[in-house]
Amino acid sequence: MFCSAVLRSGTRSLEHVFPDWILRHFRIGDHVISPQAWKGTSVVSAVRRHPLAAFRLGGICAGCNNGWMSALEQNVKPSLLALSKGERHLSDLTHLEQRTLSRWAAKTALVLHAATYSDQVIPRPLYPLLRSQPKQLPTGLAVLAIQTPDLADDLLAVTAIQSDRFLIFSRPGTASDPVRWKISLRVGILQLLVSYCSDAAWTPVGWRDVHKALWPTQMTLFYAAGLRRDLVTTRKESGTVLFHISLGIAAGLVQAEIELLPRPPLEQELERFFTSPRK
Ligand SMILES: [Zn+2]
Repeated sequence: MFCSAVLRSGTRSLEHVFPDWILRHFRIGDHVISPQAWKGTSVVSAVRRHPLAAFRLGGICAGCNNGWMSALEQNVKPSLLALSKGERHLSDLTHLEQRTLSRWAAKTALVLHAATYSDQVIPRPLYPLLRSQPKQLPTGLAVLAIQTPDLADDLLAVTAIQSDRFLIFSRPGTASDPVRWKISLRVGILQLLVSYCSDAAWTPVGWRDVHKALWPTQMTLFYAAGLRRDLVTTRKESGTVLFHISLGIAAGLVQAEIELLPRPPLEQELERFFTSPRK
């Protein structure tokens, strides 16, 4: 998937979607999960149940798995664990740590995406670019993060969400409808969000003081949400879902124009995520 190696016995390997060292560290490898996918109101993936440790992806060669992917796991481990427990803060990361964390988030998100969707949105030719360009991320990917220390204690140490839900900032009728996708990964209190957009005319728009840009290292467009907490129902993973859906994309607008737009309907979007179409 990430290189041109021909897979046969001896070169074939299985990559853990959630890395083995994370499952062992948090002792959650035997936790049974049931990943599902929806399109509209229908479930499009077979409902399956298996332990987290068995959530693995083929199509990756042993050279990649034991080479650059393994090195990336080793390199990210100290900062990822400290961030996931709140022992370090995102703003203290060095530039190199930030790049390593971004590449790890992108790698994990791409593996998760391929493992969960047979009809995947993020194009396969983007995968080898992640391996072949070690100092950057493929064009079209952005990585955002936040730490949410007030997370409930009884949550599983890792969760993931994927969707195509972006807040859209554009003038009506002026922009195309780009192919887009988002993948959220939470490890402990660290929320990571990997966003993909096929069209460079669109730029990510963050929720001010919420989305911290990891890659690219600066975000140019922000909106003020002024979330009305009295209008939303607090649910177990509301914080994770809110971080996921609140990232927007803009085309043809500068910051001053975004400031003048009406406040985005975040409360409705959040309720909609939980209540439809997956009822
Ligand atoms: Zn390979």
